[in-house]
Amino acid sequence: MIGRESSNDTIAAVSTPPGRGGIGIVRLSGPDAASIAAQLVRLQQPLEHSRARLADVLDEDAGSDAERIDEAVVIYFGAPHSYTSEDLVEIAAHGSPVVLELLLNRALKLGARLAEPGEFTERAFLAGKLDLTQAEAVRDLIEAQTLTQARLAASQMGGALSRRVGPAKQSLVELIALLEAGIDFAEDDVELTTQAEIANRIDALTPPLAALEATFARGRIIHDGLTLAIVGRPNVGKSSLFNCLVERDRAIVTATPGTTRDTVTERISLEGIPLELVDTAGLREGLREGLEEAEQLGIRRSREALADAALVVVVLDATEPLNDEERRLLAAVEGRPALVAVNKCDLIRNLSETNRPLPDCGDLPAVATSALTGEGISELRGRILELATGGAAAEPGMLTSLRHQQAIAAALAALADAAQANANAIPHDMILLDLYRALWALDSLTGQTTPDDILNLIFSTFCIGK
Ligand code: GDP
Repeated sequence: MIGRESSNDTIAAVSTPPGRGGIGIVRLSGPDAASIAAQLVRLQQPLEHSRARLADVLDEDAGSDAERIDEAVVIYFGAPHSYTSEDLVEIAAHGSPVVLELLLNRALKLGARLAEPGEFTERAFLAGKLDLTQAEAVRDLIEAQTLTQARLAASQMGGALSRRVGPAKQSLVELIALLEAGIDFAEDDVELTTQAEIANRIDALTPPLAALEATFARGRIIHDGLTLAIVGRPNVGKSSLFNCLVERDRAIVTATPGTTRDTVTERISLEGIPLELVDTAGLREGLREGLEEAEQLGIRRSREALADAALVVVVLDATEPLNDEERRLLAAVEGRPALVAVNKCDLIRNLSETNRPLPDCGDLPAVATSALTGEGISELRGRILELATGGAAAEPGMLTSLRHQQAIAAALAALADAAQANANAIPHDMILLDLYRALWALDSLTGQTTPDDILNLIFSTFCIGK
């Protein structure tokens, strides 16, 4: 549990990743941060807000005239002008885990408490420095694996999502105030808002929220990425295509069938969408007997990869007729986000086989490719991207998490109920219940009405020291 009630204590953590580095930072936040820091290291000048100070890190066990074992730069930010809104100190020493551990243990002995994951950011949130979407964006920025993810997180950290929700929330609050006034002053002959007026106002609220909810299709995949399995029988060129997509020789390509025994996985960024490519061993049904154990394992893995993948590329050999196994494979992926790469199309021309029809891929979109000449590869990328995004474009303030999407969906559902109640001429105090439900949902997005257990869940996904 995060110590949410006890934020008048001082927390400490190593904020840089575990392991060795050029520098490593110990962070303190809370009322005693400055006094603990002053005892932790020998400062060459007193701490002053937003100023860097040189300090010696002393060997603890050696007494007051102790030997220096490291030097550090200490920066102090006085409350409320800090990340957490509390007194905050960052001690940047050399990035030796031993020195950082020494500093941290000493800080704990001096009265600090070890910070929970995300507790610095949680304190910033509780102090009103960030709303919840911005706090989540801090975590997303740290965990970004592609520049597009980082950009998306940065714009959310700057409040892009909160700004998009802001106007809808404002209109909702106005509508609530209008209805409340009508109820409060009913006896004073204040005119009740008409049914048509209420209907108009609810109608105006819905489209921007619906448009926001629709951004989740793209926001989610930018945030989470997708798995793409490359499947097909041996020797059709799966590994070669995989290499074209990852643009380096990750999988070993040979002319012997079934050499890709196990699955090979690589992460690529396709227009900023993190794609996990899984190159699988050939699916060879009916050939089980006589197969080596490794080969069987590979086949099992490829079936698993196929089951788990969000997207599938079935690779066929343009020079070979479809066999039963391939027909089964195509039937198995039908209806899923899948496409067919008809590979080795360079050979068709070389062999003057231009009259030969390309294999029938049913309803699946097909691209003629050559891993050898690079023909069709950029079209293949484009098709994969289309499949991944469903054509949705990237835009600022996209919804990136299920929590966001569910909050907006809950708000829309409550608004639909309110509209229905209004259409049925239900009394205003009942309509208000629905409108408050919508407001609560919007507020939960930014964290104003998020229950503690949800908050704890969110902040526990942060790293320690952030
Ligand atoms: P996998 O077993 O499906 O992974 O197939 P590989 O990628 O290992 O390729 C099998 C053989 O086909 C290798 O000798 C490749 O060089 C060759 N190959 C792959 N793609 C093409 C292509 O587009 N054109 C031609 N001509 N050869 C290809």
